[in-house]
Amino acid sequence: MKKSVIVLLAVTMMICLSACGGASSQKLVMATNAAFPPYESVDGSEIIGIDPEIAKLIADDLGRELVIEDMAFDSIIAAVQSGKADIAMAGLTVTEDRKQNINFSDPYTEAAQVIVVKKDSTVTCPDDLEGKTIGVQIGTTGDIYAGDIADAVIERYSKYFEAINALNQDKIDAVIVDREPAKVFVNDSDELKMIDEEFTLEEYAIGVAKENTELLDQINASLKKLQDSGKIDEIINKYIKAE
Ligand code: GLN
Repeated sequence: MKKSVIVLLAVTMMICLSACGGASSQKLVMATNAAFPPYESVDGSEIIGIDPEIAKLIADDLGRELVIEDMAFDSIIAAVQSGKADIAMAGLTVTEDRKQNINFSDPYTEAAQVIVVKKDSTVTCPDDLEGKTIGVQIGTTGDIYAGDIADAVIERYSKYFEAINALNQDKIDAVIVDREPAKVFVNDSDELKMIDEEFTLEEYAIGVAKENTELLDQINASLKKLQDSGKIDEIINKYIKAE
C-alpha cells in the first residue's frame, strides 16, 4: 500500500473514533441562563453554580457527559420541548402553566420571589408595589406575579442585570427577583436593599420533555440518591451561606 493511502486510512479511523466515539458516552444537554447567581453564572470560560454542580452529579450517575447550553431564559422551555436540550436547569420554578409544556422532576430546593428597591425607597412590603414601575426578567415567575399588582407598570428586561441597572438609575421603583440572586445583586451594590417579606414561595425542579419519561424517571432516582447522601445540601451550602 502506498504511504499516502495508509495515512489516509489512519486519519479516517481517527476521525471515526472521535466522532463515533470509541467509548461513546451519550451527552446530557442542559439548557440554562447563566446570569442567575448563585444557581448559574459565568466564571471565565466556565459556567458555575448550584445547578451545574447538581447536573454534573446526575450526568455522572447516568453515565452521560454534561453539556451546558447558555441561552435567554425565555428560550429554555422551548429548547427542552424541541429536543435541542435534554433538561432545563435554571432555578426553574415549578408552575401549573409550565406543566402544560414540560414535565418537572421532584423539586430539589425551595425558593422565593422577593422585592429589591433602593435603600431610600418607601416600599416596605408587597402591597406597597401598587401603582409602581416594576422591573422583571421576561418570562419569569416574577414577570407573572408583577402582572397581578394593581396599576403597576411592568418593565420587562431580557436580563436581571439590566433590571437592576435600571433600578440603580431610578428608572424603575422595584425589581421582583428570586431571593438568592437578589442577595447577590444587593451585596454588589451600596444603594440597594432586599425587602424581607417574601412575595411568593416556590420550588425549583428540573424540566424534561413530556415524551421523555424514561429520562425523568432516571433523574428522579438520581436526585433521590443525591438527596439521601447529603450531596445536594452540600452543594447548596457551598454557595449559600447560612445567615
Ligand atoms: N425562578 C424564576 C422562574 O422560574 C426565575 C428563574 C431565572 O430567571 N433563571 O421563572
